[in-house]
Amino acid sequence: MSIASEHLNAALGRVAIAASSELAIETRDLKKEYVLKSETVRALRGVSVSVPVGDYVAIMGPSGSGKSTLLNLLGCLDQPTSGHLILGGEDVSKMSDDQLAEVRSKKIGFVFQSYNLIQQLTVVENIQVPLFYQGRLGPAETKHCKDLAAMVGLGDRLDHRPMQLSGGQQQRVAIARSLVNDPEFVLADEPTGNLDSRTTDEILALFDALNNSGRTIVLVTHEDEVAKRAKRIVRLKDGLLQSDVRNSEEGRLAAAEHQKQMIAAIKEE
Ligand code: ADP
Ligand code: MG
Repeated sequence: MSIASEHLNAALGRVAIAASSELAIETRDLKKEYVLKSETVRALRGVSVSVPVGDYVAIMGPSGSGKSTLLNLLGCLDQPTSGHLILGGEDVSKMSDDQLAEVRSKKIGFVFQSYNLIQQLTVVENIQVPLFYQGRLGPAETKHCKDLAAMVGLGDRLDHRPMQLSGGQQQRVAIARSLVNDPEFVLADEPTGNLDSRTTDEILALFDALNNSGRTIVLVTHEDEVAKRAKRIVRLKDGLLQSDVRNSEEGRLAAAEHQKQMIAAIKEE
């Protein structure tokens, strides 16, 4: 009997491990405080959220609610004050800056609202930047970067510099750059915040394609039209999780269709 239950426990243990390894991201009571001279800002006051592999999450909430703070922690750009952050089964909460940089380069693609491209570099060179910092830039890698540029629709703009590109094209370069290490998940902080509706739709189509290819996506947005395209909406308020709701597949398709019609109407004007 006890042997049987031991087997059962062992089996359950394996199931539990298999299930938890299916999580791309898990936070447990994650807190972040910024200590300033005059005060301490409690930007995240204990956030627990699980993101399965292949999920597509939109983080919403009022300005100052902690969205960027959370995304920066998920992206290993900063360290939590307390709590746990587990990425692909690995607890990164107590890692040093160097260790975080390593995780970031292996697992994470990050896209910023303001693109963060280097103005002096061309499209291909901007995509190559992460590889340059990792000291692995050869002919095969350069070819890979050109392929990524083509994938985001910039195959004929390889030698352009950011100034010669539209906002949407610059964001596509930034997305290609975020994919250069074949990340498990892509994090984006208001990636369409500076773009018009048509360009927003192009960028969202790109995120759809990435998500369909199995990549986990977490993006911050204040636009309902963008959030409706995700699989799930997580809302923050005052550094706490306020709600966590799944979008229906029909709702997502309807949102995409609505956006297409609106764009068509604008084009006809
Ligand atoms: P959101 O992205 O939702 O607008 P943030 O995560 O940027 O919110 O900010 C949450 C809170 O933390 C705000 O009160 C903000 O002023 C504060 N904050 C963010 N970054 C810093 C920082 N580097 N130093 C001090 N306070 C910060
Ligand atoms: Mg923000």
